[in-house]
Amino acid sequence: MNFAHALPSRSPLSAPPLVDALLDSLPEAAWLVDGQSLTVCGINRAALRLLGLKPERALGVRPTLLCGSLEDETFWMGAEQDPYARIRSDTVLTHSDGHPRWVSRSISPLHLPGGDHYWLVLLHDQTRRRRAEAERETLLAELRATLESTADGILVVDLAGRVRSFNRRFAKLWGLPGGLQHEPGDAGLWLSLQRVMRDGEQYRARIEALLEAPLMRSSDVLRLADGRVLEQVSLPQMSRGEPIGRVFSFRDLSEKLAAHQRIEELGRSDVLTGAPNRRALSDRIVQQIASLGDGAPATGFALLHVDLDRFKQINDTLGHSYGDRVLREVAVRLRGAVGAADTLARLGGDEFALLIDGADAVAAEESARRVQQQLALPFSFDTLSFTVTASCGIALYPGDGNTPDELMASAERAMHWVKEGGRAGFRFHVPRREVDLLSRMRLDHAMRQALVEGGFRLHYQPQVELGSDRVIGAEALIRWRDPQRGEISPAEFIPLAEESGFVVAIGDWVLREAIAQAASWLSQGLRMPVAVNVSALQFQQAQFVDTVANALRDAALPASLLELELTEGVLLGDAEEALRRMSALAALGVTLSIDDFGTGYSSLAYLKRFPIQRLKIDRSFVQGLPGAASDAGIANAIVQMGRALGLQVIAEGVETEAQRDFLAQAGCHEFQGFLFAPPLRPEEFVQRVRPRRSVVVEPAVSGWLGLASAG
Ligand code: C2E
Ligand code: MG
Ligand code: MG
Repeated sequence: MNFAHALPSRSPLSAPPLVDALLDSLPEAAWLVDGQSLTVCGINRAALRLLGLKPERALGVRPTLLCGSLEDETFWMGAEQDPYARIRSDTVLTHSDGHPRWVSRSISPLHLPGGDHYWLVLLHDQTRRRRAEAERETLLAELRATLESTADGILVVDLAGRVRSFNRRFAKLWGLPGGLQHEPGDAGLWLSLQRVMRDGEQYRARIEALLEAPLMRSSDVLRLADGRVLEQVSLPQMSRGEPIGRVFSFRDLSEKLAAHQRIEELGRSDVLTGAPNRRALSDRIVQQIASLGDGAPATGFALLHVDLDRFKQINDTLGHSYGDRVLREVAVRLRGAVGAADTLARLGGDEFALLIDGADAVAAEESARRVQQQLALPFSFDTLSFTVTASCGIALYPGDGNTPDELMASAERAMHWVKEGGRAGFRFHVPRREVDLLSRMRLDHAMRQALVEGGFRLHYQPQVELGSDRVIGAEALIRWRDPQRGEISPAEFIPLAEESGFVVAIGDWVLREAIAQAASWLSQGLRMPVAVNVSALQFQQAQFVDTVANALRDAALPASLLELELTEGVLLGDAEEALRRMSALAALGVTLSIDDFGTGYSSLAYLKRFPIQRLKIDRSFVQGLPGAASDAGIANAIVQMGRALGLQVIAEGVETEAQRDFLAQAGCHEFQGFLFAPPLRPEEFVQRVRPRRSVVVEPAVSGWLGLASAG
C-alpha cells in the first residue's frame, strides 16, 4: 500500500513512483522538493502527522511553508544556484495546532539518472527529548537553588574525589576563592582544604580512606587552623543502587560549641562565687580516685565539708545581698586556706567543700585548722564587723568511701556531729559501726528524754466500714518531734526502743494516753473504740494484763472501747502463756486483733485457739491491689480465712478507690488508709467523723452514738 502522498503525474512537479514508495518506507518524517519549481512534490504520512496537515495543504507549496526557520529560508533562496547544497541542523516547526515541534532536520539533494533533481527533507522529531531536557534543566535549577539555600556547605565529588559541584556556602566556610571553578578532575580542591586544616596530613588520610570505601558514611569534627570547628558529614551518592560519588556537608560548629562550653561551665560552677559546684567536685574526686589507682594507696586525699554556723541569722537580719557578700568573702578565705592544687567547691547555701590533694589525717587536720583561723578573722562590710565560725567534717580516702557520693556523705555526716557537739570545730568521719552505736545511743537518750518531757503525742487514724464509710474505730499511732532532729517516724525509733526495752515504758504511756482520749471522747458523747499497738516485749511483761485493767479502771473506760493490736511475734515465745494472757484480756472485754497479718508465722491453728476478733491485712498486700496477682490472691485468702473463722477483717494502707473496691468485692469488712484519712490529731479526728449535718451536739446526747459501733 502506498502511503506517500504525491501529486498525480503532473510532470515535472510530481515525483516518480519509485521515490514515492521510498518516501513512504522511511521511518521518519520526510518530504520531497522539486528541484525546478522548488515546491513540495511528495510527503509521507509521518511528516503530515508531524505538521498536522492534510496532503492537499502540503503538496505544491513552498518548503518554507512547512519548515520556515531563517536557516531554511536562506537555504531555499540559495538552492537554485547550488543544486548540491545540503544542511543538517536542529530547528523548530510549527504544528497546525500552533505548538512548536523540535526537530533535527536535514536537506540533501537527490539527482536522478534522467536528470531530474529533487531535495529530500528528512525530519527527526526531537520534541520529547527537548521536553525531557527542559524538565531536567528545571529540576537542576531547583536543586541548585536548594543547595544554595541550605546553611550547610555542600560538596559533591565523583568516586575518584574529583569535584562535581559545590555551593557558595561551601566556598565561604572554607575561605576558598569565589571563582573556584567547577572543574572535573580538580584534585587541587583537596589540597586547598588540607591547607586550612589544623592537621592537614591527618585530614588527607581521612579523605583517602573515605574515597577508598565508596559506601562508607562518616561524621567527623574538623579543626581548622584559624580555630573554627566544622562538622563534616559524608554520605555516598547513589544512582540505581550503585555509588557514583560522595556528598560532603559541612557545618560550622564554632558558635554552638562556644555556647555549649559556656553552658557546661555554668552547669559546673557556682554563680555566686565562681567556685566549682557539687557536680564538678564529684568529677574531681573521680579523677583523684582514678589517679591513685587500684589497691590501697598509702596517702590518698581528704574531703572537708565546711558548713557556716548560724549563717541564717546573717541572711535574715542583714538581707540576702549582704549574705551573698559574706559567702563570696568566705570563698576567698577558704581558697586562701588551702594549696593551689586543692579544690574549693560550693555545695549550695552556706556549705562548701575542700578537696585536699595527697592529704592524710595529719594534713587534713592542718587544713581544717587553717580554715578555722581564716574564718576567725573579723569580717567587716560597711560599718559592720562580725566573725563567722564553721563546722567542718572530714572524710579521708581511702577509708570513708569509694565513690564521690559516699565520701561526700561521710564528710557531711561528720560535719553534723560537729553541729550536734556545739558547732565551731572539726571532726573526722568515724567508720559506720561505731557511729551507728553512737547515734543509736543518742537516739535512745533523746527518746527517754521525750517521754519525761512530754515529747510524744498520739495521732488517730480512722477505721472505716467498707460500704457505709462509717468510722468504726481509731488506731492510735505515736508521733515524736525531736527539737534537733525534727519529726522521727515510729518505724525508726520503735524498733530501737524494742531492742533497748524502753518500748515497755513508751507502750504504757501510749496505752494510758489512748484510753484517756477514748474516755474524753466518750464524755463528749463520742463512742469511739481506740486501737493501741502493743509490742511483743510489752505484752510479755508479767503485769501486762493488770496494767491494761488499771488503765481502763483509772479512766473509767468500758473495755469494749479498747482494742489491742498484737503482732504475730507475740506468739513466738511461750504460746501457752500467751494464750492465758490473751484469754485474761478477752475476759476483761478488750478486743484483740492481729496487726500486719500475713507477714509473720500465721497459722490457722493459733487463729482458732486464740480469742482474736480481728485480722489486719498488712499494707504490703494491699499495695499491689487490684493488679498484682499475688497480692490479690493473698488478700482474698486472708479475707476467706478470716470470714471462715468468724473474724472481722480490716485492710491497712488503702490509698486508692480501686484497692477499696477490690477489698469490698472480696468481702473484707473494714479498711483504714490515706484514701479516707491519714492519722489525725485528736481534734482533726473529731472534725472528720462529725456528721455532715454539723448539728451542735450536746454532751452525752446520743447523737454521736450512731457513728461508732458498740465495739
Ligand atoms: P502499723 O501499726 O501497721 O501502723 C500503720 C502504719 O501505716 C502507720 O505508720 C500509718 O501511718 C501508716 N499508714 C496508714 N494508712 C496508710 C496508707 O494509706 N498508706 C501508707 N503508705 N501508710 C499508711 P506509722 O504511724 O509510721 O507507724 C509505723 C509502725 O510503727 C506501726 O505500724 C506500728 O507497728 C508502729 N507503731 C506506731 N505507733 C506505735 C505505738 O504506739 N506502739 C507500738 N508498739 N508501735 C507503734
Ligand atoms: Mg497497728
Ligand atoms: Mg499494721
